Amino acid sequence: MNMCEEVIQKLFGEYVRGHLSQIGIDFVDEHTTECDVCAQILANTESDYAICKEVSPLLRVYVMGELGLEVEQIFVKNHVKTCRECAQSLAILEEGKKLPCGDGLLMGYAAGDLDRYNQSIVEAHLTLCSRCAQDVASIQSV
Ligand SMILES: [Zn+2]
Ligand SMILES: [Zn+2]
Ligand SMILES: [Zn+2]
Repeated sequence: MNMCEEVIQKLFGEYVRGHLSQIGIDFVDEHTTECDVCAQILANTESDYAICKEVSPLLRVYVMGELGLEVEQIFVKNHVKTCRECAQSLAILEEGKKLPCGDGLLMGYAAGDLDRYNQSIVEAHLTLCSRCAQDVASIQSV
């Protein structure tokens, strides 16, 4: 088994997002100071992630069809072709946009009994729809 590919490089996604535990971080840091190949791949992962951070606020605007500049639309489209994380966020936002307002899911969401997938769709809807966001806030405050 190739330790670098199978073990170390699989941690990079979590590493750049700050999701690793301290032990994991130390493990990666220690390895990349000794291994040039992994150090290079980690650097690439970091620069990709910097792009993700630029893309993620645009995704919402993109789904709303309000992205003004064509270059920005192309930037988002090209990025989601190569980035699984952003493609998934985009898919969830699109599902959220399709959700009919006042849907029963909102009640379930406010009551906290949705599974994670539906929960993220409702959350996506709430970021796109201020009316439902208000409804949920008022249900939750009762
Ligand atoms: Zn390595
Ligand atoms: Zn991305
Ligand atoms: Zn709505």
